[in-house]
This record gives sequence, structure tokens and C-alpha cells, in this order.
Amino acid sequence: MGKPTGFMEFPRNAAPYRDPAERLLDFKEIYTAHDVERLTTQGARCMDCGVPFCQSEDGCPIHNLIPEWNDLVYRGQWRDALDRLHKTNNFPEFTGRVCPAPCEGSCVLGITDPAVTIKNIEMAIVDRGYEEGWIVATPPSSRSGKNVAIVGAGPAGLAAADQLNKAGHQVSVYERADRVGGLLMYGIPNMKLAKNEVVERRVQILRDEGVEFLVNSPVGDGSNGSVSVSDLKGAKDAVLLTTGATVPRDLPIPGREFNGVHYAMDFLTANTKSLLDSNHEDGNYISAKDKDVIVIGGGDTGTDCIGTSLRHGCKSLVNFELFPRPPEDRAANNPWPTWPRIFRVDYGHQEAEHIQGEDPRVYSISSLNFVGDDNGNLTGVRTVDVEMVDGQFRNIEGSERDWPADLVLLAMGFLGPEHAVSEPLNIEYDERSNYLAGYGTYNTNVDGVFAAGDCRRGQSLVVRAINEGREAAREIDRYLMGSTELP
Ligand SMILES: Cc1cc2nc3c(=O)[nH]c(=O)nc-3n(C[C@H](O)[C@H](O)[C@H](O)COP(=O)(O)OP(=O)(O)OC[C@H]3O[C@@H](n4cnc5c(N)ncnc54)[C@H](O)[C@@H]3O)c2cc1C
Ligand code: SF4
Repeated sequence: MGKPTGFMEFPRNAAPYRDPAERLLDFKEIYTAHDVERLTTQGARCMDCGVPFCQSEDGCPIHNLIPEWNDLVYRGQWRDALDRLHKTNNFPEFTGRVCPAPCEGSCVLGITDPAVTIKNIEMAIVDRGYEEGWIVATPPSSRSGKNVAIVGAGPAGLAAADQLNKAGHQVSVYERADRVGGLLMYGIPNMKLAKNEVVERRVQILRDEGVEFLVNSPVGDGSNGSVSVSDLKGAKDAVLLTTGATVPRDLPIPGREFNGVHYAMDFLTANTKSLLDSNHEDGNYISAKDKDVIVIGGGDTGTDCIGTSLRHGCKSLVNFELFPRPPEDRAANNPWPTWPRIFRVDYGHQEAEHIQGEDPRVYSISSLNFVGDDNGNLTGVRTVDVEMVDGQFRNIEGSERDWPADLVLLAMGFLGPEHAVSEPLNIEYDERSNYLAGYGTYNTNVDGVFAAGDCRRGQSLVVRAINEGREAAREIDRYLMGSTELP
């Protein structure tokens, strides 16, 4: 433990984001440069708890050795801190940027004081590792002669590829998109996670270590140019499905067909692709410029739609939330160390407030119908306020309102994975249409076929996808070799 009295001496001082006035002018990351003095002081706040809840099941899903690297950063031993970080996390540069940090929600210091700034410290350690040239390709010294196919190159697939490659297996990752990364590439926007500088940098290391990536390679029943999953299964020693939970929840109310109502993912994916391909010059994206935008649904997807629309130069922005505004502090039924369900201001909300003078979120509101003109173009949304009665939402009579809108983005979550890969293999599903594979074993009903990440558990978090990818790799290694040394 660095400084036994640190937690009493120093207040929490999280790294600020770039000023909204400046960052709204570009799609660069929102983060400011790491301040070593601040990080050292914040590392000193860690109490090195006897039972470090930060790395427990409620805290970090990959059980990062948080008190160890907090202490090492306090002592200036950055290289050791990086080694400890990589022991449990293949991609700390992703989680250090995008994770909502359940570890901080579980930090013991959080019972009486604001939690340790764990996420800032994680990001600083790995960024320092790259700056110093400590993170380089280290191909395995020998090969096992076994071949594994991974379908889907999101964080679950990438973590599994990294682990299986380290164990000496030849890994081929099939990805239907034109770039590797899954939602790290075409979901989470650049301002939260830079693509070439951060995602592609790690992917290149995996390539240099011997992982094969096949992009523009949809896997399915073999028709329409897809790679046949049955052939793949025949040709490989094991197959891992990490195809994500990509079926969006729709809002089938009257007027859904008007031009201008889009799924959030269509908006976000096209934006990033056009930005990367041509700095938006090809025009192949849904522009929010000069439009009245309504984002329906919250969470990370909603926030990313807000941040992206504002950067396009939208005329106005409103965000509808069905649920009531969360409390400022933990409610009685939401005690430490569970994830605090409290009111939060994310980067997009901060930016909207900077431009519009107020938070864009409207709570306890439900959309009744979309309104359009004779040409089939969206012109607005009609809503009603709702209240919760006996666990059910009820419309409040007389509270109907009309909102102008020429762009609506549906960000209401995801229903589960598509079934293009699972159907030809006769994979069984759970009651929510996810691929059925046990947590901890990851094997499906088909011998040699495993599943991990959002396609197995439903839409979740990058850190959980990494956890499942790592654990599935361990089980595949055991399946191939009879025993395993992977964690
Ligand atoms: C807009 C948005 C923002 C988010 N923000 C955050 C955040 O800030 N922090 C956080 O922790 N989590 C966030 N999440 C959730 C997080 O991104 C996911 O939980 C995580 O990416 C899941 O990883 P995965 O590898 O299981 O799947 P995915 O990342 O979805 O990757 C699946 C991949 O499989 C590919 N694929 C699918 N079918 C096929 C096929 N038939 N053939 C070949 N390839 C196929 C897809 O193209 C995709 O690349 C966000 C999600 C969204 C939608
Ligand atoms: S729970 Fe908080 S104070 Fe305790 S070891 Fe973890 S980070 Fe440090």
C-alpha cells in the first residue's frame, strides 16, 4: 500500500475531458493528456483493502489486480504496473477508455468518500506502455498444430484470438465488416475510442503475432457469398461464435415508415465508416446537420447518438427516456457494492448542455406516433407522459405533446444475435434467443462449437466480452489439448 493516509489526505480528482467548446469541433478523443502527478496522488488514495471489492464479481468482471497497480503507479513503477494489468486484461486501452467502471462502484472507499479513480489509472498505465515501446508483438514460441475459427471480431473474439494464439493455436477470425473491432470499431464513436490510433494499433499487434483476420467475410449457410459455417466446422478443430447481439429493438408505432426514423446503429456505423474512409467527404452517412433530432432511448448508444448529432451540427436535440430520472444518490434497494443506479452526466449530455443550455434528457415519456408530411418525410413525434403504477407504465391522461423532428434515432437496446451462423449448425437458443452455452464452459449443443460475448449473454459491456472471450479460449484450449494453462 502506497500511502496509508492517502485516502484521508487527498480528495478524488478525476481527469477532466477536453472542454466541450473545443471537442465538439472534431471527432477526436474527448480525453485530456495524462497528468502523472494527479495519477500518483490518486493512486495513493487506494487503501489496499484486505478484501478488495473493486476486483470482486460486483466490481471488475476480469478481476483486474487493481490495488496492486494503484500502488505501483503511486511508486512510479509503471512497467510493473503494465505487466500486472496485462495479466488479467488483454486490452486495457479499450476498457480504460470505454468501461463504465463497475470497479469504482464497488470501491470500499466509496462507502464514505468518492471512489479511487481506477479507470483513469488503468488508461494511463497502458498509454504509457505504448509510449515507452513496452507493448510489442510477442508471437508464440511454438505451434500446437490446431486450427480455430472465430466468427466475429468484436472484443470477445479478439480476446479469445489473443489467448488461443498465445497457447500456440492457429487462429483465423472471420468478420463480415470491412474493419476489425466489432462495436469497438463500428459502434462506440471515435470521440470515446480512436479507431486507427487505438483499436487498429492493437489489432496490428495481434496480426504480427500470427492471428489471421479475414474481413468482408460474412459467415452463414454458404449462400450469397457467405463463408459456409458447416465447411468451417469441418475444416477447423474448433469454432468460436462471437457474433454479438446485433438485432435492434424496434418502435413499431404509427408512422414508423416515415423517412428520417433510423436505428441508432445505422446512424453510428455509417458515421464512423464515412469518417474513416473519407473524413465524411463521401457523404455516405446519415447527417444530423440543421435537423431537429430526437434520440429515443438512453444508455451508451443514446449518448453516442447525442455526441455524434451535435458534432454534425444539428439544430436541436432531445433525448427521450421511458424511465424516471434516477436519484442523485444510491436508493435503499441499491446498496454498495452493487452498481450505483444514480443520475449521471455522460459526455454527450455535457455537450448538449453546453450548446443548448440544458440537459437534453426528458424522462417518463413514451412515444405515441411519428408525424410526417405528404411526401413521407418525418416532421415530428407525438408523446405522452407516463408514470409507474404497480410495476407497469401508465399513460398520464392529457399529457400528450408534439415535438418537431426530422431525424429520430432509435436507441432502445438489442434483442439478441442474428441467426445466420447458428441456424445451419442447429445451435440451440436460450429464452431470449441468445446462443445457448453455459457461463464458464461456453460450449453449445454442437461438439466443437463454442459461443461467447454478447451473442451468448445479450448486449452487455466491453469488459464482459473480454472476460468471456478469455474464458472461452481457456475452454477451447482444454477441449483441444485435454488440459489447459490459460487463465
Ligand atoms: C453504440 C454502442 C455503444 C457502446 N458503448 C459501450 C461503452 O462505452 N462501454 C462498454 O463497455 N460497452 C459499450 N457498448 C457495449 C459493447 O460494445 C458490447 O457489449 C461489446 O462490443 C460486445 O462484444 P462482442 O465481441 O460480444 O460483440 P460485438 O462487438 O458486437 O462484435 C460482434 C462482431 O461479429 C460480427 N458478425 C456478426 N455476425 C457475423 C457473421 N455472420 N459473420 C461474420 N461476422 C459477423 C459483427 O460484424 C461484429 O463485428 C456499446 C454498445 C453500443 C451498441
Ligand atoms: S476497493 Fe478501492 S480502496 Fe480498496 S483496494 Fe480496491 S481501489 Fe483500493
